[in-house]
Amino acid sequence: MTTTAATPAPGVRGATSEAAARVPHVVIVGAGFGGLRVARALARAPVAVTVVDQHNYHCFLPLLYQVATAGLEPQDIAYPIRAILRRYRNVAFRMARVARADLAGRTLITERGERIGYDHLVVAAGSVTHDFGNPGVAAHAFGLHDIDDARAIRNHVLRLLERAEAMADGPERAALLTLVVVGGGPTGVELAGALAEFRRHVVPRDYRHVRADDLRVLLLEGTDRILGALPERLRQAALSDLAALGVDVRLGTLVGTLDAGAVTLADGARLATHTVIWAAGVKGPPLAAALGLPPGRGGRIAVGATLAVAGHPEVQAIGDVALVAGAEQLPQVAQVAMQQGEHAARNVVRALAGEPPLPFAYRDKGTMATIGRSRAVCHLRGLDLRGRLAWWAWLVVHIVMLIGFRNRLVVLVNWAWNYVTYDRGVRAIVGAGDGRGAP
Ligand SMILES: Cc1cc2nc3c(=O)[nH]c(=O)nc-3n(C[C@H](O)[C@H](O)[C@H](O)COP(=O)(O)OP(=O)(O)OC[C@H]3O[C@@H](n4cnc5c(N)ncnc54)[C@H](O)[C@@H]3O)c2cc1C
Repeated sequence: MTTTAATPAPGVRGATSEAAARVPHVVIVGAGFGGLRVARALARAPVAVTVVDQHNYHCFLPLLYQVATAGLEPQDIAYPIRAILRRYRNVAFRMARVARADLAGRTLITERGERIGYDHLVVAAGSVTHDFGNPGVAAHAFGLHDIDDARAIRNHVLRLLERAEAMADGPERAALLTLVVVGGGPTGVELAGALAEFRRHVVPRDYRHVRADDLRVLLLEGTDRILGALPERLRQAALSDLAALGVDVRLGTLVGTLDAGAVTLADGARLATHTVIWAAGVKGPPLAAALGLPPGRGGRIAVGATLAVAGHPEVQAIGDVALVAGAEQLPQVAQVAMQQGEHAARNVVRALAGEPPLPFAYRDKGTMATIGRSRAVCHLRGLDLRGRLAWWAWLVVHIVMLIGFRNRLVVLVNWAWNYVTYDRGVRAIVGAGDGRGAP
């Protein structure tokens, strides 16, 4: 089936085919932070919108590490895309993985071979884990980029603890109980902090033979700093919070190779472990190359200052997948994706009115990371916060950003429960292991 501008896009209810034929069709690839903003901003525009995503849910990535550490359940941070979009009468959803494009024919082609025509295209396909060509990462490390990754990490760690509980002390048990996080950005720091809290509050209660101190959490960072986007004072605060939780932070430590039972560092040292979680960076998704659009650094799509692709004014790229000329240093964070989503929608509306597109300008609202219970760092509009106050600010921002009243309520209740009881969510090992890093 082909959806084109001349064919009523699904979701344009009540439109006659003649009227629909005149309705420009905007296709958005990706229902992440950026794509959903485009759809929302076009909800009252005279266009038919189709959002295409490979999943039927939107995932709130900033809380993925809590799923990986049994603080939250997968369904607490996922929300059905159809439920999000149902209030927008001109917006339809198609669950499909886009495989390539016929740019001249203004058509996307899905993996199943379906063709989706467009007048305007917004590519908001996010990013994937970047292994920097490091041998062994794909085979032996866990990424943390979607719900499957988070579940795999959680199942794996819980399985290791079950095994260690029945083993005598020795090098193999020590390797099982060594968890290595690579990358000192927000994801790595938050994950290492959460694993350390799990060790402190859950391990002593749940296991008779694994002592909290038996479980080691290491955070390896190649540069001389963690949380590079934050001011020095907050970086130091984060380091001391991690140290207080017992995380072994090693700065200036480059990973060489990974194999099934160890990480070999660039200086030749070997760390025996069966758990490496790779949070060292992201790159453009496979789709970025497959579309045939101009490539940018890091496997992203190169776009101009207006977010449009050179030679294809009808195509814009936003969020993690876009490398904006003149703003290459923009961080790959949700705020950038959301602001670019609104901007892309504005430029579509301007194009319909025959007006030229406007350049994108980012308004930096700040950066934050949580390290553990009552420990966080926030740099918000020039205001530096740490400790309990920063933690409350982090909590409020994340609850507000979560989509859906049910998810907000469930997450709030879970956090309150965890806070009061020092406990975690249900630690059920569900599903088969995926083999990565398994002893
Ligand atoms: C673990 C983790 C923690 C993070 N924490 C924070 C944080 O605390 N604060 C913050 O600001 N940012 C954080 N980020 C970054 C933030 O989540 C991203 O910058 C943001 O999600 C980018 O939005 P996006 O719309 O570009 O892409 P995404 O939100 O990733 O959405 C991309 C969508 O495209 C879909 N897609 C991809 N390829 C295809 C295809 N071929 N066909 C169809 N659909 C496709 C995907 O399924 C996905 O739904 C974190 C990221 C991760 C991974």
